[in-house]
Amino acid sequence: MKDRVILHCDANSFYASVECALNPELRDKPLAVSGNPEKRTGIILAKNEIAKKYNIKTGEAIWEAKEKCPSLVCVFPRHDVYEKFSKKLQAIYESYTPYVEAFGIDECWLDITETEHLFGGAMKVANEIRERVKAELGITVSIGVSFCKLFAKLGSDLKKPDAVTLLSRFSFKQLTYDLPISSIVGIGRRMELRLNKMNIFTLGDLAKVPEELLVSKFGIIGRQMSQKVRGYDDDEVKSLYEEALPKSVGNGTTTIMDISSEQEVRAVIVYLLDQICSRMRAKNLCGSTISVSIKNCLLRSVHHSRSLSFFTNSVIDLREEVMSLIDSFWDYDEKIRALRICVSGLAKANFVQSSLFEYSSNKKMRLNYTIDFLRNKYGKNIIKLADSSASFINAI
Ligand SMILES: [Mg+2]
Repeated sequence: MKDRVILHCDANSFYASVECALNPELRDKPLAVSGNPEKRTGIILAKNEIAKKYNIKTGEAIWEAKEKCPSLVCVFPRHDVYEKFSKKLQAIYESYTPYVEAFGIDECWLDITETEHLFGGAMKVANEIRERVKAELGITVSIGVSFCKLFAKLGSDLKKPDAVTLLSRFSFKQLTYDLPISSIVGIGRRMELRLNKMNIFTLGDLAKVPEELLVSKFGIIGRQMSQKVRGYDDDEVKSLYEEALPKSVGNGTTTIMDISSEQEVRAVIVYLLDQICSRMRAKNLCGSTISVSIKNCLLRSVHHSRSLSFFTNSVIDLREEVMSLIDSFWDYDEKIRALRICVSGLAKANFVQSSLFEYSSNKKMRLNYTIDFLRNKYGKNIIKLADSSASFINAI
């Protein structure tokens, strides 16, 4: 299959650049957008290129910054103005493709796979965007051009301001494998430390670790990290107009009478999952993390979650995973008053790689969609899962 063509456009020193664009007299001065200097909480939120030369850092106190650069001009942030600039940037991007996905106020991914030929190729599009932003808005962007979102983003960081960097299939390893793993979007401080403990410090280190080892340590996240860093990143660029994915789909109930046996718990779990999964399928979602909360008859709650190594929206898959999670922390020797299940780590079902549907055979998927079809046509109670029972459950 043909590689995709993805751009990542990042506005340089966004807040400070917008202030300079609107107030040309500030352009040649060291400038910072900051909180209120009268208050002790005043910190630097953004700085222009000149202020950067004084080694002024985002997040440091204004007085510290002024010590390094006494002539520093500090202005208050004006979020409504930055919002407007952000929309103008997006309007420029959208003249090249409908697939523009915002990441924060000043970064966007663009998928130009289907449209680049209309404008003379990817590098031409990138440079034209760079020039237009400068001419039309008076600020600069740095742009990464690559075959997936991860490397497009890394590309926009490699050279800035006002630059275009190409990371092709042939060059991406050489240009990025020495970077620290913290440069990968989504790897936070905690994950970084856990990887460091495994002697993984750079992207190159991460790429060398066998995928299965990362899966055994981090579940689905481990698999994604391993595949992405080796250049197998199928993450789609969403359109700005697409509905944002919900964070989770959950369902819970207080049982009419206290329950305790494994069989009773299983019946309630299946009942709850049946509804969760129907809702997920109706929204074309599948999930990769399960959480269970159990409240006992003394109203003490316990909560546990687990990452799966696959995505699913099937009751049968989730029933086994939820029951095994419950078995890991519950002895069935206490009475249960309430149960809640939540599925998170959601993705669009058609975007999930088929290889990740390890447990969801086509047969199972067809069965689920047939159940949904029958219920839509003949009503909710036309079909019931065998081990589900509503007899313990209050009206949901
Ligand atoms: Mg930026």
